[in-house]
Amino acid sequence: MIVARTVDGVRAALADRRGGTVALVPTMGALHGGHRALVRAARGACDTVVLSLFLNPSQFGDPADLNGYPRDEAADLDAAGAAGVDLVFAPTTDEMYPPGYQTWVEVTELGRMLEGEFRPGHFRGVATVCLKLFTIVRPDVVVFGQKDAQQVAVLRRLIADLHLELELLAVPTVRDPDGLALSSRNARLTPAERRRALALPRALATRDPDEARALLEEAGLDVDYVAIPPFHPPTIAAAVRAGSTRLIDNIPLETEVSR
Ligand code: AMP
Repeated sequence: MIVARTVDGVRAALADRRGGTVALVPTMGALHGGHRALVRAARGACDTVVLSLFLNPSQFGDPADLNGYPRDEAADLDAAGAAGVDLVFAPTTDEMYPPGYQTWVEVTELGRMLEGEFRPGHFRGVATVCLKLFTIVRPDVVVFGQKDAQQVAVLRRLIADLHLELELLAVPTVRDPDGLALSSRNARLTPAERRRALALPRALATRDPDEARALLEEAGLDVDYVAIPPFHPPTIAAAVRAGSTRLIDNIPLETEVSR
């Protein structure tokens, strides 16, 4: 597995692989089974699998959230190697946002609802870093988790609006046996918070926003939103806070997951 730290390094490493197809799996590290499922889907779709490891500061409004995000690059490189990644792109913040950086991309409507309302500027950061990664890696296929359903909706819109020659593959959410969706943020939950957090998948399973909200509040979770947004496939989505940890989850209202 090659590890590239610079844009030039990625381009050089991919130069002799352009005869085949390239898949990109963007991540912020703290890799878990959800990320491994994305890599498997990428492996199944393309000849070369690139995984990016970049904790993107521009998508965090709250410095405490960014500073408290779990970081363990050595473990992430081991996990990427074991998952069969060909190339890891792990740039510094300066490589992605050098001094003088001032270009941003925004998906105006889809990026402002739900998560965008509670985390202003979040999707501007996501859309910008993803467009940069797409431009650097020039993948045929990009792979994202349905766990972040609004992110998928925003990026599908960006790809269509900017006529990018990319296929977006959305992978179903990977869950622990108790139903909690895998997330890098779960590591921050105390055992009591984790027990309360189990109300999140159970509430979504009602497929009814009012009923779900009542169950979440009953479990002692602070509810930011429960909604059925205009995403494809139709989805019920929620964001809650358990102590200082914010969790999001969603389930498709239909069983089919789109490609
Ligand atoms: P992150 O590192 O949290 O930005 O996530 C990187 C990618 O992994 C995103 O496309 C996420 O949607 C996806 N992802 C995160 N958690 C899961 C999960 N439990 N199941 C499937 N994909 C996931």
